Amino acid sequence: MAKVQTPKPVRGTQDIFGEEQERFQHVVETFERVRRLYGFKGVQMPVFEPTAVFARSLGETTDVVSKEMYSFEDRGGDSLTLRPEFTAGICRAFLTNGWQQHAPMKLSAHGPLFRYERPQKGRYRQFHQLDAEIIGAGEAAADVELLCFADQLLNELGISEGVTLQLNTLGDAESRDAWRAALVEHFSDHEAELSEDSKTRLAKNPLRILDSKAPNDRAIVADAPTIDAHLTSEASEFFAEVTEGLDACGVSWKRDSGLVRGFDYYRHTAFEFIPDAGSAAAEKMGSQSTLLGGGRFDGLIEALGGQPTPAVGWAAGIERLGMLLENVDRNIETVAVVVEHKIAMAKAFEAAKLLRLNNIAVDIYASGSPRKRFDRATKSQATGIVTFDRGPTEGIAQMRVRADESQPLAKKLHKILAEIE
Ligand code: AMP
Repeated sequence: MAKVQTPKPVRGTQDIFGEEQERFQHVVETFERVRRLYGFKGVQMPVFEPTAVFARSLGETTDVVSKEMYSFEDRGGDSLTLRPEFTAGICRAFLTNGWQQHAPMKLSAHGPLFRYERPQKGRYRQFHQLDAEIIGAGEAAADVELLCFADQLLNELGISEGVTLQLNTLGDAESRDAWRAALVEHFSDHEAELSEDSKTRLAKNPLRILDSKAPNDRAIVADAPTIDAHLTSEASEFFAEVTEGLDACGVSWKRDSGLVRGFDYYRHTAFEFIPDAGSAAAEKMGSQSTLLGGGRFDGLIEALGGQPTPAVGWAAGIERLGMLLENVDRNIETVAVVVEHKIAMAKAFEAAKLLRLNNIAVDIYASGSPRKRFDRATKSQATGIVTFDRGPTEGIAQMRVRADESQPLAKKLHKILAEIE
């Protein structure tokens, strides 16, 4: 018979395991704790949506929609897409569930996303995000609260050192239109030197040229007009309220007037948390720089057929946050339960159950050569060992606690296990 070939994993997917999984889980658990402190309610969203949810809201000219979506026709002939981001799906849910009655709503989610990108360190085709959104709040205080949440999350993960909040405003519709016109004029003057992608963007969405990573675009982008000369007084005032709020909350930030977000629906505040050049954080991240990004997307709900509804949100890559964590200390004691004779098996199970009920992690060593079980346990991470063997009397199991008697763990083990001694 021909040898069966084991199928390969899909390019850009990961099997997250061991230390990496601990980091991943720590990021999610910290997010879940901090989001409660800020009053965000968790939501579980479908992993796929009708393609129109993303095509309409993200803008047909964004890279995600034009090149990166995993879209397919299902057996019923409907065009579906694996979610490339959370925001559009959450806004769809807001509309189809009639959540307007609960507005403003503070929602959070986490889970896998899918983009057909060129995989490299920190960039995958299936990756995972944390996501936080406030829907139905048009005031700058919502932007401030979200940014404080992001800042506290990074602090509590211990990764804020060498990471800076870069902040910009994209203004309101009027400011944006005026800025757009100035950008079109500037880029048209340099059209011949622009990359092919940016020539297309010039016709469809010139703001996206500011986002271009193409080397020949960078110099032209560096001289491009900033939004400042085009901001309406309302838009300037809004931005001032955001920055004053951040200062009041002790969140440090830096203005980056070239920062635009990839998606078309952003208005006013746009931000990214980025490792500083040359910092240890930047080194760990490789060429992928953005840890957490977001902004205000007042135009999105309308693009999905809803009433004009202001909203603001952010998303962060779980893998990228995980890469920056120092060793994750799970802070849970582990004890090895070693079964040296099968007569003692039931008693060992009883002990393991009792210990776990008392918040102590247990690894049971009951297989392989009985002589080697104890050796394996001593080589493990366990801080205490409890052995179960045949006793001097036939049919009786004997338990022995082996832990450093000068440490509180020994006392704890004796106390918990006294019941079955
Ligand atoms: P975006 O939704 O593109 O604004 O991305 C928000 C965050 O998700 C980024 O700052 C990254 O941390 C993370 N992210 C985006 N794309 C990827 C990817 N392909 N692989 C891993 N993380 C990603």
